[in-house]
Amino acid sequence: MSINITSYKEVLTKLLPYHAKLVAVSKTKPVEDITAFYAAGQRIFGENYVQELADKQAVLPADIEWHFIGHLQSNKVKYIAPFVHTIHAVDSVKLLAEINKQAAKHGRSIHCLLQVHIAAEETKFGMDQQELQQLLDTYMANPADFSQVHIAGMMGMATNTTNETQIRQEFHQLHQLFGSVKSTYFNTSDYFKELSIGMSADYTLALEEGSTMVRIGSLLFGERNYNGTK
Ligand SMILES: *Cc1c(COP(=O)(O)O)cnc(C)c1O
Repeated sequence: MSINITSYKEVLTKLLPYHAKLVAVSKTKPVEDITAFYAAGQRIFGENYVQELADKQAVLPADIEWHFIGHLQSNKVKYIAPFVHTIHAVDSVKLLAEINKQAAKHGRSIHCLLQVHIAAEETKFGMDQQELQQLLDTYMANPADFSQVHIAGMMGMATNTTNETQIRQEFHQLHQLFGSVKSTYFNTSDYFKELSIGMSADYTLALEEGSTMVRIGSLLFGERNYNGTK
């Protein structure tokens, strides 16, 4: 086990003045590691593979708040709909509609964050501003069609670079967009309040730029090894 409880405590201390939440990203890591953080008090965990999340949820304590943070295909929503609390990377109306449908089947509501593309890189998922606008227009035209989803805010990933100025600018831009979307569409919503930005390498910058939720993996669980099955 290579989990780092000292880093965990340090992260929590840094989050405190911002009242930000920690999503402990446990993807590829064994249930024993999750149990260790659970014992230390952590309750929010993030995963980005559907099967892996379903397998872990089945054997771990029921009061864990599970967040799905990766790219989600519509046809896989049904596997996590019975229990998932928040889906971070909603990037189409089609996906939002499917989440609504599956949540309704289980008589639940699922929190959704809208993923916006802020990085300079081409490979990252997420909507551009025009796609975001289209999704919001569709949602606003028929909110009753989406009664089982709570649009809880926005999510983004900065460019994978050591250039802090660039990372800060990207986070800043997303924070601005978050503010304008909130005031235009969600002024009276109790749910739209989360800005999910910041990972192990850039979470302190993200906090300074308005993050309310950081998604941290390797700093807590150690480096991931993708050479095996995962
Ligand atoms: C893996 C992952 C993280 C955590 O990354 P670290 O650099 O290990 O902190 C955060 N967000 C998403 C979407 C991820 O896939």
